Amino acid sequence: MTNKCLVHQRSHEFICYQCNSLICSRCITGHNKDHPDHSDQCEHIDDIKHSLITLKLDDITDITITTTNNHINNDRTDNNNNNLYNSINFHSQINNKLKSLWGSLRSSTSRYQRLSTTENDIKQHFEQLHQYLIIEEHKLQRDIINDKHTITNQIDNNINHLKYLLNIINVFNKLNSNNSNNNDNSSCDDQSDIEDATSLYSTTTIMESITTSSSLQSFINHNNQTLFNEHNFKYNNYFNIDELLKQNSSDSTSLLLDIIHKYNNQFQ
Ligand SMILES: [Zn+2]
Ligand SMILES: [Zn+2]
Repeated sequence: MTNKCLVHQRSHEFICYQCNSLICSRCITGHNKDHPDHSDQCEHIDDIKHSLITLKLDDITDITITTTNNHINNDRTDNNNNNLYNSINFHSQINNKLKSLWGSLRSSTSRYQRLSTTENDIKQHFEQLHQYLIIEEHKLQRDIINDKHTITNQIDNNINHLKYLLNIINVFNKLNSNNSNNNDNSSCDDQSDIEDATSLYSTTTIMESITTSSSLQSFINHNNQTLFNEHNFKYNNYFNIDELLKQNSSDSTSLLLDIIHKYNNQFQ
């Protein structure tokens, strides 16, 4: 790009923003003839200079109507002061572009902020809904949890009854077998493996076993190494059967009665 028009050897004085070409004062007539729609896109360098001199960035605000009015007034004042230019209200495309860029930045920002506000409103709305649903869920579950807790307690309590009664039966069986042959003390102390397996004694495990057992006997058989292991005193026995038998070997009937009496006291 040279400073002078190659045809007329004159300095360029115009710019056509549409073609983005520099044009001399002789060529401008031809250019406007060839491209009538470009005439308002062509600016003379003096107009551009004037426009830049009178440019006030302070006046470029987002309130377009008042901005325009202010601008005209300012232009007039400046013009009166300078008295250099005839075109009063001329604004270069540079000024217009600055205005439109600022306007676009302002409106983009406010649109973005409005979207953020809506986004936040939605978020808060659904947070409240979530809170509400959680509370409703807990309300509905609270009764169920309480009921389940009660049932668990009942099962534990009944299992304890059952253990005690099974122990009574055990005592009875041992008393009977003691009468016929001597006490076999062979079965003992294989509980070390089982003792720590607390989960085997949990109500959940017990309920699973109850579900899969068709009869009380099969339930007892299924748990005879854990719940109903007669040597596992830690979990099972309210009394040490062998010890009781030793102490009361003479009077088996009163022993049995005594145990039953204790049971009634404990579980009534
Ligand atoms: Zn042009
Ligand atoms: Zn020319």
